[in-house]
Amino acid sequence: MDLKQYVTIVPDWPKPGIKFKDITTLMDNGEAYKYATDQIVEYAREKEIDLVVGPEARGFIIGCPVAYSLGVGFAPVRKEGKLPRETVKVSYGLEYGKDVLTIHRDAIKPGQRVLITDDLLATGGTIEATIKLVEELGGIVAGIAFLIELSYLEGRSKIGKYDILTLMEY
Ligand code: AMP
Repeated sequence: MDLKQYVTIVPDWPKPGIKFKDITTLMDNGEAYKYATDQIVEYAREKEIDLVVGPEARGFIIGCPVAYSLGVGFAPVRKEGKLPRETVKVSYGLEYGKDVLTIHRDAIKPGQRVLITDDLLATGGTIEATIKLVEELGGIVAGIAFLIELSYLEGRSKIGKYDILTLMEY
C-alpha cells in the first residue's frame, strides 16, 4: 500500500516555510491505519519487544495499537508536570528555547527491550531525549519506528547507532 497518498501536506503551517505532514488523514482511514500499524508490529516482533514507549501526543497514536497487537505494555513520555508520580526527566533543545520530557521512574524494568514510536522523525531532538529516558531507566532500545522520516533534516545522524524503521520518507 502506498501510505503517502493518505498523508496531507499542509504548506506554511504552523509557520511560513514548514510543510506540515498531517497524519490525521491516514489515521481516519481504517485500512491505512491498520496497514501502517501492522508494518510496525511485524518489525517489533523481530526485535522481541517487551514494552512500547512513545512521546506525547502522536507517539501514542502509533505506539498504542502496536502494543495492543503485541500484547505488551505502553509507557507514555510526557511534557513536564503531566505525570502524577515520581519521574525522571531530560531537557532537550527546540528550535527556540528548550523543553522537558518525563517518564515515570517505574515505567521500565532494567533489561526490558523497548520499541520507541513516534509519527515523524524531523531533527531527532524528541527521539534523542526519549532514548535518554529509556536508557536512564535501564531499558534497551531495541528499535525505533516512525511513520515518516524527513531525511533532509538529517535527524537520523543523531540516532544512527540504533535500529530504525520508517514507513515513508520525504
Ligand atoms: P523532532 O524533534 O525535530 O524530530 O520533531 C519532533 C516532532 O515534531 C515530530 O515527532 C513531529 O510530531 C513534529 N514535526 C516536526 N516537523 C514536522 C512536520 N514537518 N510535519 C509534521 N510534524 C512535524
